[in-house]
Amino acid sequence: MSKRIAIIGGGYIGAELAKSLDNTAEVTLIEPRSHFVHAPAMIRAVVDPALLDRALIPYDRLLKNGRVLRARANGIDADGVTLDDGQRVAADYIVVATGSSNATPFKPVGDDIDGLRQANQRVHDQLNAARRIGIVGAGAVGTELAGEIAHAMPDKEITLISDTGRLFPTMPEKLGTALASKLRDAGVTLVLGKRAENLQSLTEPYAGRLKLSDGSELEFDLIFPVLGSRASSELLDGLPDTQKSTANRVKVDRWLRPSSLPNVLAAGDLADAGDGMTIVATSRQLPWLKATLKGFISGKPLEQMKPYKPWGPKAPILVPLGPKRGNSFLGLFTAGDLLTRKMKGENLFVRKYSKLLNRA
Ligand SMILES: Cc1cc2nc3c(=O)[nH]c(=O)nc-3n(C[C@H](O)[C@H](O)[C@H](O)COP(=O)(O)OP(=O)(O)OC[C@H]3O[C@@H](n4cnc5c(N)ncnc54)[C@H](O)[C@@H]3O)c2cc1C
Repeated sequence: MSKRIAIIGGGYIGAELAKSLDNTAEVTLIEPRSHFVHAPAMIRAVVDPALLDRALIPYDRLLKNGRVLRARANGIDADGVTLDDGQRVAADYIVVATGSSNATPFKPVGDDIDGLRQANQRVHDQLNAARRIGIVGAGAVGTELAGEIAHAMPDKEITLISDTGRLFPTMPEKLGTALASKLRDAGVTLVLGKRAENLQSLTEPYAGRLKLSDGSELEFDLIFPVLGSRASSELLDGLPDTQKSTANRVKVDRWLRPSSLPNVLAAGDLADAGDGMTIVATSRQLPWLKATLKGFISGKPLEQMKPYKPWGPKAPILVPLGPKRGNSFLGLFTAGDLLTRKMKGENLFVRKYSKLLNRA
């Protein structure tokens, strides 16, 4: 009899894993949203809302044999998953990939895809009307957002604020200095090594005055709080022996197990496996998950399979500043405009994920 695999969450981990096991096992993907949300495009969509038509991709063609259940999971045990309407999905193996939430308009609130479309249009209109733009947080999303606005709306006065002394402080120095110099070229003011002390919202753009940690104050027509992702790990709270790490993530062992249940694995943003909260991390976890689940199906015990090895400090990162410029760290060297544009900036991997979801 074929094995039953329940995958909870249809993001980068869940959608690709479900498709890759569709011919090997009885797959059920549990996902409350109608559409896959291609996060990298949500940044450019702030300046170009039309991009949403291609970056929100319906799930209906993803699986040929298995099923996508439009539902939220609210309980897990050794025998399966309980959905929010009480229905049960019996499973031999469970993969939890419930991901993370982020600020508006970068990810939907819960399963509300129409709400994301409306928020995108609202923020786009606010951005059009604004002159002075503050971006608080200079991780990849904040830095890319500054670059996208500077490229598409060169008349805006953009200030990118970070409490770190330089951009991308954990990466090779060349990446941050090259990006900083391109942003300054494009007219962006960088305020580094200072904290915004009085953010009125951590999740919604708003107009107001920011107090910085050196006592200075700056007035903006629109402030984007861009302070990083928070893992959606509540579903795992009821499992035996789980432990949280930072950003609400759940610790996993070397075989990506979040608890003492041997048939439950967790991956992606939710799981602290030693990787960052990135698609780049999911791209390393996915081949391991596919091989390990296929091993499970053929009867191999988990401990006889290779443990997962995270990227470590060489994890690549691609940071476009609009469709033409940007820099990337590719594990061995820092690349400039041409490679960043070809690899990501031009089309933001939209085609790759349309293809994954069996769209033209
Ligand atoms: C604006 C933005 C841009 C980004 N750009 C990049 C980039 O360019 N490169 C990069 O490497 N990373 C990027 N990231 C990070 C990347 O989006 C995440 O690392 C990635 O989404 C993680 O994938 P995941 O499968 O773990 O979770 P997610 O993609 O968050 O998917 C989780 C899924 O689980 C579902 N879910 C949640 N709870 C439940 C439940 N109880 N039951 C069932 N389903 C549930 C959700 O509806 C969601 O569809 C970006 C993030 C943001 C916010």
